[in-house]
Amino acid sequence: MDLGIKGKRALVCASSKGLGRGCAEALAEAGVDLIMNARGADALEATAADIRAKYGVTVVTVAADVTSDAGRAKVLEAAQGVDILVTNAGGPPPGMWTDWERDDFIKALDANMLTPIALMKALLPGMIDKGWGRVVNITSVSVKAPIAVLGLSNSARAGLTGYVAGTSRQVAKHGVIINNLLPGQHATDRIASLDARAADQSGVPVAQVTATRQASIPVGRDGDPRDFGAMCAFLCSRHAAFIVGQNVLLDGGATNTTM
Ligand code: NAP
Repeated sequence: MDLGIKGKRALVCASSKGLGRGCAEALAEAGVDLIMNARGADALEATAADIRAKYGVTVVTVAADVTSDAGRAKVLEAAQGVDILVTNAGGPPPGMWTDWERDDFIKALDANMLTPIALMKALLPGMIDKGWGRVVNITSVSVKAPIAVLGLSNSARAGLTGYVAGTSRQVAKHGVIINNLLPGQHATDRIASLDARAADQSGVPVAQVTATRQASIPVGRDGDPRDFGAMCAFLCSRHAAFIVGQNVLLDGGATNTTM
């Protein structure tokens, strides 16, 4: 299928690894030039070089913490006038409800709610002027079904989801389409570190923790970041013009709901 976005420019945040990288690769495969971001310059440059070599698109890198004001300013300077925005950042740490103080919530809100909102506020006007734009926010399955140990994530992402629900309907008439992608369990460093923590706390070997977790997913395995990226590219395509403010769950059937 021709996604109809060859030659467009996309900012893909937090994209040297994992789900962000999956999205960057799928957009590059569709012929989209990229601005890629992560904090660590080495992995970012290696991923960018790989994508340039594989897909022949232009890739500009910005090594910066997208959740800080200074880092975001650097990212936005490189990304002015983009057609496509994919928001992403690392997720908050796990814990118990008794662990989290105001500052922990402020940090989580900054990273996983206020950063994507600031990026949209900065880049939506350019898309509106052009009469075409796409935004995909990487959130979490925790928006639909809470993950108890990720209370900071549950809270911050619910806030972003509310913002997108309203804002997506305000900008749609300008040809600007905003949706959220909700990852369930995917094979990335993030899920590996959560499994390692669970193994430490329970004394169960990490391989067994992972196997038990995967057995609870109807497809019997973790998701592939490349498949996640393919859905992101579709939501950024010309075919997604009538999909507005949706929360698209990619979880291998793990969330046991009828709708
Ligand atoms: P990952 O494999 O750990 O990759 C995270 C990527 O983001 C890396 O490229 C990392 O590079 C970059 N990054 C992290 N913090 C950043 C920051 N402040 N500024 C710029 N770049 C940053 O994580 P992932 O599994 O792809 O997860 C992506 C998001 O999806 C997270 O918010 C996670 O909570 C959420 N999620 C993941 C899953 C899953 O199963 N994987 C499930 C639900 C939700 P640097 O470290 O070099 O910055």
